[in-house]
Amino acid sequence: MRHRIAVVGGGLAGLTFARVLHRHGHPVTVLERDPAPDARPPGGTLDLHEGMGRLALAKAGLLAEFQELSRPEGQAMRILDTDGTVLRDWRPRPDEVANPEIDRGQLRDLLLGPLEVRWGHGVTEVAPGTRDGVPVRFADGRQETFDLVIGADGARSRVRPALSPATPHYTGVTLVETSLDDVDTRHPDLARLVGDGSVAAYGVNRALVAQRNSGGHVKVYAQFRAPLDWHTNPDRHLGLRTDTSTGTGLGADTDADAGLGAGLDLADAEAVRSSLLALFDGWAAPLLDLLRHGTAFAHRPLHVLPVSHTWAHVPGVTLLGDAAHLMPPLGVGANLAMLDGAELAESVAASTPGGLDEAVRAFEERMWARAGRWAEITTAGLERLVSPDPAEALALFDEVQPS
Ligand SMILES: Cc1cc2nc3c(=O)[nH]c(=O)nc-3n(C[C@H](O)[C@H](O)[C@H](O)COP(=O)(O)OP(=O)(O)OC[C@H]3O[C@@H](n4cnc5c(N)ncnc54)[C@H](O)[C@@H]3O)c2cc1C
Repeated sequence: MRHRIAVVGGGLAGLTFARVLHRHGHPVTVLERDPAPDARPPGGTLDLHEGMGRLALAKAGLLAEFQELSRPEGQAMRILDTDGTVLRDWRPRPDEVANPEIDRGQLRDLLLGPLEVRWGHGVTEVAPGTRDGVPVRFADGRQETFDLVIGADGARSRVRPALSPATPHYTGVTLVETSLDDVDTRHPDLARLVGDGSVAAYGVNRALVAQRNSGGHVKVYAQFRAPLDWHTNPDRHLGLRTDTSTGTGLGADTDADAGLGAGLDLADAEAVRSSLLALFDGWAAPLLDLLRHGTAFAHRPLHVLPVSHTWAHVPGVTLLGDAAHLMPPLGVGANLAMLDGAELAESVAASTPGGLDEAVRAFEERMWARAGRWAEITTAGLERLVSPDPAEALALFDEVQPS
């Protein structure tokens, strides 16, 4: 008898799992909370690494189609000082294909292909397994039972509590995202600033990053260290100004940025824009123009799971991607999510009729070891990228960028 397998979440982890399993001729039920594929903006551009996201696509038989869609030139990266001086201007050689970029929406559509997703199926809970299997409960009160339930439902996973009491905690860094459309026509100066790939500037405890997506769309990320309640608490001092006496920028000159976000309505785009312009006051005009011309603003405090998050194995339930190992967004989360999905699908497809649980257990050990290493790297990376000493960000770039 074929195993009844459900994956909760139709993000990159869940879809890669389902697509690879589908390639092996095994049926899988994909349960996704969103009512339709286009219910939300799909998010920004992703670079897929060899041996990670691209290996997963190879396992799904989708590498050639990915190469058609991807943008190797999108690997270009420019770093500016906050006064606009160009500090680094790295462009890939024509044969440099280490980390080609693809729009997240294009990648999702590629993975979706022939899969049948049950849209609008938000899972509320996974109940303890019985002899009949593992019951999955839905928001409308219904319940369905499977032999294996895979939680690929992201940061706020509803499957995770069936395995682990861990919940994500705030990193101390908040990201506010905005975007510009038709940049080549409407903002040609900014189009040149961003180039084919990304531009970034690092200041004291804050950074501005802009990334080109396809079709002249640019995503802009303002990042800064701040308490979680920075936008509501009038007594908050963000400590973003440089302390000229110590050069640390921490704890000093706090009156200068006290209450910048106090009483801020995050749904009020003009109010958020003004707050961000105040936070980045003194930076070069072209960098501030990225904020001046941005459209809507999305507030994303960065949360993470504990580094090396593991759990005692529970037959019939497991986790993939952010649900298992949410970490700072430093270019690997989606890659790991896809690799998790592809590897688990291959393990499940290769398992003997009585060996499904052993296959899942072995996969978990592999995933934990790999994710633990990356969680350490990305946690240390975030400390350096949004840091009291902007030279740290430049040093990190020089360490990781191919020469
Ligand atoms: C600003 C930013 C930039 C990033 N850039 C990169 C990058 O360049 N490279 C990279 O590798 N990573 C990047 N990441 C990380 C990457 O986005 C995540 O690691 C990746 O999306 C994780 O995929 P996932 O499938 O595990 O989770 P998700 O992408 O979060 O997908 C989870 C899915 O589950 C669904 N879902 C949630 N709850 C339920 C429920 N209860 N029932 C049913 N369905 C549910 C959601 O609707 C969603 O479709 C970035 C992250 C951020 C925030």
